[in-house]
Amino acid sequence: MIVVLTGGTGGAKFVDGLRQTVSANELTIIVNTGDDLEWWGLYVSPDVDSITYVLAGMLSNERGWGVKGDTFFCLETMRKLGQPIWFHVGDRDLAVHVLRSKLLAQGKTLSEATTEIARSLGVQSRVLPMSNLRVETRVDTSAGELSFQEYFVQRWYQDPVNSVRFAGAAHAEPAPGVIDAIMSASAVLVAPSNPVSSIGPILAVPGIKEALQRTKAPVAAISPIVGGAAVSGPAGILMAAQGWPVSIAGVARAYKDFLDVLIVDGRDTQAAEELRRSGLRVHCTNTLLRTAGEKAELARTALSVVHRETGMQQSAQKL
Ligand code: GDP
Repeated sequence: MIVVLTGGTGGAKFVDGLRQTVSANELTIIVNTGDDLEWWGLYVSPDVDSITYVLAGMLSNERGWGVKGDTFFCLETMRKLGQPIWFHVGDRDLAVHVLRSKLLAQGKTLSEATTEIARSLGVQSRVLPMSNLRVETRVDTSAGELSFQEYFVQRWYQDPVNSVRFAGAAHAEPAPGVIDAIMSASAVLVAPSNPVSSIGPILAVPGIKEALQRTKAPVAAISPIVGGAAVSGPAGILMAAQGWPVSIAGVARAYKDFLDVLIVDGRDTQAAEELRRSGLRVHCTNTLLRTAGEKAELARTALSVVHRETGMQQSAQKL
């Protein structure tokens, strides 16, 4: 079983590659829920949705979120009704939020709702929210404390950031199946997702980081930082706010407690050489995921890197 830790955008591109490379029932995806929000009275879980859509072959590649070919009639009507529309929801996407909210109102957990929606959409891989309890990513900015979506979507991540915290994390617990999946995995892959706002909340759930340390499976991460900058979004800004360098060394720092090997872009070959001196294994390849071919290629490379890692661990045990 291959286990992936992920957010929604960079992570979905990587999962798209894995979907082309690994059989569906060999994949378990543990997804960030720190960006979840209540929108128009509905419970929206943007990263869980992106991962579900990509596995169902429904994700819009152009937008990187929402459903391919979706329409926006409801959004337009909400605008006429004077409702906020800064968070865009397409009509087909809306159906998923309505169903999830209905299932939660019936007393189902977020994992149960996620499984039911994923199955109905034909997804055969396991999609696990990191926790069934609410963990909220809060961004402290010069304009005050904002939810992640307010910071990122509503305000275009323009506000200077002081710090990021994960409200509720201390009392959260991993969703059923999360720890088991990590402990029994043959490999764990951390997607090229934002280390602070996508992987940070997952690691903040008590027990998950410890499982990543204890698992026998090799843990590899793909850097979302390429050539010293984020490929997209606020990863650089948020990493700097944590006091981490905005580089592959900063990514290594974020995952230092459990990382066996870091996969970085060919543009970072020199930085990789320096990082290797610290003792970390670093693999250089193309990590820019623009086409289906590039996505599948990176998935294959990541799998061969962890496979080699397993071989190395087994020979070390024999010595
Ligand atoms: P979010 O929940 O939408 O923030 O999604 P993620 O955290 O999964 O994705 C955002 C991260 O993906 C950013 O830090 C980007 O730098 C990274 N990213 C996006 N596209 C690519 C890509 O093609 N290659 C790599 N290596 N990283 C990418």
